[in-house]
Amino acid sequence: MNEINNNIDQMTLINNWQQVSKQMKQACAHTDRQADDVMLLAVSKTKPADMIATLAKQGQRDFGENYLQEAIEKITTLKTQPVGENIVWHYIGSIQRNKTRDIAEHFDWVQTVERDIIAKRLNDQRPNGLPPLNVLIQLNIDNEDSKSGCLPSQLPELIKIMKEYERLQLRGLMIIPAKANTDAFARTKQLFDEVKADYPELEHWDTLSMGMSGDMTEAIENGTTMVRVGTAIFGQRA
Ligand SMILES: *Cc1c(COP(=O)(O)O)cnc(C)c1O
Repeated sequence: MNEINNNIDQMTLINNWQQVSKQMKQACAHTDRQADDVMLLAVSKTKPADMIATLAKQGQRDFGENYLQEAIEKITTLKTQPVGENIVWHYIGSIQRNKTRDIAEHFDWVQTVERDIIAKRLNDQRPNGLPPLNVLIQLNIDNEDSKSGCLPSQLPELIKIMKEYERLQLRGLMIIPAKANTDAFARTKQLFDEVKADYPELEHWDTLSMGMSGDMTEAIENGTTMVRVGTAIFGQRA
């Protein structure tokens, strides 16, 4: 008997993914950006490996996961399939210290680094056989007490430390803005550009991860280079 779940069927999934891609293209055209300026990260947390495989076969390359145990199971399953070979895995959940080794060993990107102790551990634990781990600094752009992320005032200090880590490749910034915050995207884009100007030695500083299902158009209009989309592709999460 089939396991009971509320997951959408394969045709709906593919259709959603095409719709999101189209919406991204339209937002790019609307703001005079090239369609390939903005990457789509498909956020597959809580969704099964076969849904990921379906989209990977359509050409979706990047997938984001929040829950480590669940993610490792899916990564391990898909690694054994031809379609899994090209998938790029992004860790976008919060990071406890004791989770850094698993993250360093299984993922290609980590978007949620916010302090040096975590960065140092990821650097030390990244296996030598793998390329450097791509890292984004999660920024608490709204200075919210409840939010994780590095405060804007602490960003220069963290960058100075992290740019020396040879097993990490510092790629840019990620934010989850406060709801109803209208200018977080623009302020983050400005900070992102300032870092690029201030640290020419950061050759791979090219990624600004902001925008989700509900606000990807605004994010694209404000200069994002990567939107992280879950619900609009995979449907509601249980
Ligand atoms: C779940 C999640 C998303 C996707 O959110 P949707 O609203 O479902 O598109 C994006 N970013 C992070 C960090 C998430 O945890």
